[in-house]
Parts: sequence; C-alpha cells; structure tokens
Amino acid sequence: MSIQIIDGKAIADEIKKEIAIEVASMIDKDEKAPHLAAIIVGEDAASQTYVASKEKACKSVGITSSVYKLPASTSEKELLDVVHFLNQDLDVDGYIVQLPLPDHIDEQKILLAINPAKDVDGFHPENAGRMMLGLPAYLPATPFGIMELLKRSKIETAAKHVVVIGRSNIVGTPISVMLSRKAQNANATVTLCHSRTKNLKDITLQADILIAAIGKVGFVTADMVKPGATVIDVGIHRVEDVGKEKGYYLTGDVDYEEVAKKASAITPVPGGIGPMTIVSLLQNTLLASKRVIYS
Ligand code: NAP
Repeated sequence: MSIQIIDGKAIADEIKKEIAIEVASMIDKDEKAPHLAAIIVGEDAASQTYVASKEKACKSVGITSSVYKLPASTSEKELLDVVHFLNQDLDVDGYIVQLPLPDHIDEQKILLAINPAKDVDGFHPENAGRMMLGLPAYLPATPFGIMELLKRSKIETAAKHVVVIGRSNIVGTPISVMLSRKAQNANATVTLCHSRTKNLKDITLQADILIAAIGKVGFVTADMVKPGATVIDVGIHRVEDVGKEKGYYLTGDVDYEEVAKKASAITPVPGGIGPMTIVSLLQNTLLASKRVIYS
C-alpha cells in the first residue's frame, strides 16, 4: 500500500508564507505589525525550547515577539501583575503563559486572569466555551493545527470515524469537539478514548482517522490500526541516545515504522504536528491583531 507521509513542516511553511504576506501588507499600509508576547516562569528546559521556537517563528513572518522571563521564585501575585500589565498593553495583540507553571502558582487562576481577547492559546474558559458552541474563538494551537493539516492534506473527515486517544483540555477534548461539529472539514463521528476505556484496540481498529495524544512512547502499535487508516501522532518525546549528536532523539506516541506499513497516511515525529502547533499560534496572533474574533 502506498503511504502518504504528511509533511507538517512543509504545510506549516506554506502557512507561514501566507502570514508573512499579510503582515507585509499591513506594514505597507502603515499598520502596526502583530505583536505576540510570552510569559515564561522558571528554567524548565522544554518550555525554554518552545518559547525560543515561537520567537523564531514570529521573526520569520514579521510578527513582533517579546518574552517576559520570570524566575521560578516569582509569586502568584507578581505573575498576575504581569498578566494585568499585558491585558492593558495596547501594543500587545495576544500573549501566552507558557505551561507548566511552578507548583506554588495556581494555573487556573492565571489562565482566568488573561483577557480572552488576547488569549491566543485559546485556554481561557470563554474561548473554550465559544469553541464548544461553534462561535468565533481562538482555537487551541495543537487541535487547530491538526484541523488545518487534515484540510490541507485533503483528508476527508465527513462521515468518517475518528478515534482520539487522550482527553486533555489542550488536545484530545478540543479536537474531538472540533471534528464532530456540523461544519466544513468536520462532520466526523468521533470516539474519545482515555485510560479508563475498555477494549481500546477494538475501538481503534474501527478508526478511519486515529489521533494519538497519550504521552507514551510508541503506544499505538500496528495491531491497533485498521489497514488504510490515517494516523495523526501528537505525542512528542525526547529519548536519550548517546549515539545521537544531541544525546537524544525525538519520537511520538505511535510506533511509526510498523504503523506506516499499514496506514494510508501518517504524520512523522518530528515534522508533523509540532510545526503545525507553532504556526497555529501565529495564525491566532494575526487574527488578534486584526480583531477578527473580538472586535
Ligand atoms: P495529557 O494531558 O497527559 O493526557 C494524556 C491522555 O492520555 C489522558 O486523557 C489519559 O487518560 C490518556 N491515557 C493515558 N494512558 C492511557 C492508556 N493506557 N490508554 C488510553 N488513554 C490513556 O497529555 P497531552 O497534554 O494531551 O499530550 C499528549 C502528548 O502530546 C504528549 O506527548 C505531549 O508532549 C504531546 N503534545 C505535543 C504537542 C505538539 O505540539 N506536538 C502539543 C501538545 C501536546 P486519562 O484522562 O484517563 O488520564
């Protein structure tokens, strides 16, 4: 069976070009360039890498980016002060608070304090609620990226059975809502699975599109996949390997080598959903600067 390797990096690059053209035309019209800010608390290595790649992506399309780097000892009150400052800052169109936060800070309290009109991560309950109801909303970056990737790869979703493994608030739950909506590039029948699901393999074998967002290396094996299915791997893991130049390699929630022999289309890790997630944040920032969602 011939397989379509879905090149998330190439699709993300195509979207970046479109964004860069829009930003250039805004600047030509003497409008301000969109501005994305990020707050990062502490020294978590993965978070530092994410924020650095978001900054680089902003730069590549002409979006202004600024980063507020706060020490791990920052109090909840001090972080709230920065959030309130960014809510008021007219130059900043949208911002994100990089998660996870240190244990002494109540994550929900911080997310609730973000002005929903600047909530380009789409994590505020107002945006989550709007998304649920099919109203204009900032969509969380990873599911937004998956939707865009399916659309641009011309993978039909209408009337298909989508099985999602994982029900997190940032990936599994929102993608299951988005794909089941009565809307273009959706209209799927969705089954949402999690750690309490019984007979998981019986369910995944029925999937026309299987989305893995579990957080376990190589969890989805070939015997769980229907021949000809589309497999979307959201997972991302650093596996230590002294033989590699960086001392590690990246892999996903899917046993790629074996599953690729059975699937008709599959996303690799790296180069699949990761680049799509970052570009979705840029798309949301552009929407924020144009006041498309909140006028
Ligand atoms: P999460 O919050 O840890 O959620 C994991 C989900 O998997 C939970 O719903 C859990 O079920 C379910 N699960 C765990 N073990 C299971 C099992 N044995 N059988 C069935 N379901 C099981 O993870 P997340 O934040 O959604 O992230 C998932 C993965 O995607 C991680 O590797 C993460 O690093 C990656 N990720 C990548 C990107 C990207 O840009 N590429 C973005 C976000 C996340 P319960 O709810 O019952 O506990």
